[in-house]
Amino acid sequence: MEQINLNTKIVVCNYDELNDTEKKLINTAKEACGRAYAIYSNFRVGCAILLDNNEIISGNNQENVAFPSGICAERTTLFYANSRYPDQKPLMMAIAAFTNDNFTELSITPCGACRQVILEAENRYKSPVRILLYGKKKIYIIESIKNLLPLSFDESQLNPSV
Ligand SMILES: [Zn+2]
Repeated sequence: MEQINLNTKIVVCNYDELNDTEKKLINTAKEACGRAYAIYSNFRVGCAILLDNNEIISGNNQENVAFPSGICAERTTLFYANSRYPDQKPLMMAIAAFTNDNFTELSITPCGACRQVILEAENRYKSPVRILLYGKKKIYIIESIKNLLPLSFDESQLNPSV
């Protein structure tokens, strides 16, 4: 029997340590929280994605009384970016959340379904998506969703003999 240990790398920093592009992306994600449709959870999540053409797309969570019919901010935003600009790879995304009259102290992280969708974007565009997870105290920077989704399922497993 053997054991596999998986390592992941997350950079932790403060807002002041970010460059102007990163700050703008975080601010856009925070603004998008204000437009979320989150009347059931009151957990308003905003996402902003920087595309290769320098366009920034933002979105937020969209809830539904039939809970599974709602969708997270990350997928709302990424699907819109992909549908609006299918030829522009996403370079970087920022995620923020607002609840109880304030932004969260700690970073919030994408759910499993969103991680899988971000992985699809990385594979589709053959390029990592840098992820900024905003928290008032600390910001997490992740260079690729693969750091948050080890042993991920991808196309190579559909055709294992290839
Ligand atoms: Zn999600």
